[in-house]
Amino acid sequence: MQKTAVITGGASGIGKASAFTLGREGYQIALLDIQKERLTVVQQQLTDKGVSSIALEANVSKEEDVKKAVDQVVSHFGQIDVVFSNAGINGTFAPIEHLKEEDWDSTMGVNHKSAFLITKHTVPHLKETKGVLIYTSSVNGTRTFSNFGASLYSSAKAAQIAFMKMAAVELGRFGIRANAICPGAIATNIGENTHAHSSQLKEVAIPTEYPNGRHVLHEGAAPAQKVADLVSFLCSEKASHLSGTEIFIDGADSLF
Ligand code: NAD
Repeated sequence: MQKTAVITGGASGIGKASAFTLGREGYQIALLDIQKERLTVVQQQLTDKGVSSIALEANVSKEEDVKKAVDQVVSHFGQIDVVFSNAGINGTFAPIEHLKEEDWDSTMGVNHKSAFLITKHTVPHLKETKGVLIYTSSVNGTRTFSNFGASLYSSAKAAQIAFMKMAAVELGRFGIRANAICPGAIATNIGENTHAHSSQLKEVAIPTEYPNGRHVLHEGAAPAQKVADLVSFLCSEKASHLSGTEIFIDGADSLF
């Protein structure tokens, strides 16, 4: 039976690159995203490549949306083998004293609560296939990196790693593996979603270059395909003994 991969945030960036990569490898793809138009475009592109897919508009920080989407995936494809919990936003980047409660709620909601919700609703199906869970965290989840003002984003990404580890321990007895990937700067559309309070950020003096000389958001950002290749490896039998681990994919930038 053909395997099915569920990808949240599948309409853009890392999720989209992973959809094409797993599609090429024979997976049926379920894209979940909040952006309807982009979903339609990506689904058409997958169809053009001969990949079977379903595109579902869903806000993955809302339980009713997640439950409905998972039910639709199962009734459409019959099974779930891979869940790539990847949807995320930078949220608000600002000094801590300027952040609002709603900034916390939205940043934690999309980056972390979504991981809990998609896991909760897919675990019964992953138990049947001995499936794979992958979470997109960030270098910001464990290292301070250079993103001053990213206290909420970093908190959410750290929480995702903790959640992944507990999922790996709790679900391992069912043959389910769980890992997190921690990208550095990747060239995607995520900046469009960032509500940086630039005047406030000057207070914390964001460096524009890595200490190794690469520019933070342009020349230095790696293509999303680099991350998609890691996702592909984690889904494969070659990674069958890999679970409970966070993997950095940043060309060592965050070590500087
Ligand atoms: P992106 O903006 O290109 O893609 C993110 C996708 O998530 C978008 O299609 C967006 O519509 C979707 N999304 C946002 N909120 C959603 C919601 N509530 N419900 C459903 N979908 C939603 O950005 P990307 O860089 O591909 O981001 C993918 C993941 O990678 C994110 O979790 C991000 O935090 C993480 N990440 C990115 C970088 C980077 O440099 N680009 C670095 C580290 C981690």
